[in-house]
Amino acid sequence: MEAQIFVHGHRVDDRRGQLPVRAGAEPYGTRPLTAITQVVIHYSGVDRDDSAQAMALYQTTKQGGDLFPALAYHFVVHQNGEIEQCHHLATHTWHAGEPANTTGIAVCLPMLNGPSEAQLAAATTLRGALEVRLGRQLAVKGHSDFMATACPGPGWRQWRERLLGPPAPGGAREGLVGGVPVRWAFWDWYRRLEGLRPGLCGSPDGPHRLLGGGDAAQEFASCTLLWSEQRMWVGWKQFPGA
Ligand SMILES: [Zn+2]
Repeated sequence: MEAQIFVHGHRVDDRRGQLPVRAGAEPYGTRPLTAITQVVIHYSGVDRDDSAQAMALYQTTKQGGDLFPALAYHFVVHQNGEIEQCHHLATHTWHAGEPANTTGIAVCLPMLNGPSEAQLAAATTLRGALEVRLGRQLAVKGHSDFMATACPGPGWRQWRERLLGPPAPGGAREGLVGGVPVRWAFWDWYRRLEGLRPGLCGSPDGPHRLLGGGDAAQEFASCTLLWSEQRMWVGWKQFPGA
């Protein structure tokens, strides 16, 4: 079982294995995670912020077109920035034909005329989280990059650029690690990934201190990082004067 995706600053509800499926249909197969090279964006095409449950019910009961065995999308990103994870990344869903189905993570934004700011921020941060999980950069495509379709909606070429940017800060999260005040710096740390070795935050790897709950702190010359068993890792940086 894959760990649920942790997306900093955005609630992620785990719907895996809980959404409606088509009666009597062969379930989706699986694919190796190494096959994944891109995120493929979709929209719902209706002027409502539909839940994954509602979209799954529609897709698995309709009798025309593709007879989806289950919801097409791995993730649904809502207008308020909340996210639903609907399948494992390894699930081979139907959403944009081949080879996109094998190589893509399907992300649906329920909307008609363009995503909200919170949707864009959540989708961008989700992309970053998926890249961290998979350990590589992912291309960002729209359904219409693979076939003639209105999906993912008007203005796609313009708002696609937003999804390629750094994850939105999402509001500072502060706390104490070993009594030291630290402030969230997800992207600051993330963008250093390529420069991490040798030496992280200006020093060789320091020792881990277990904090309980699966978390561990690792201290360096210029920062403290907080790692989590449950959430892969989370990054913290100590700011001067914080
Ligand atoms: Zn689509």
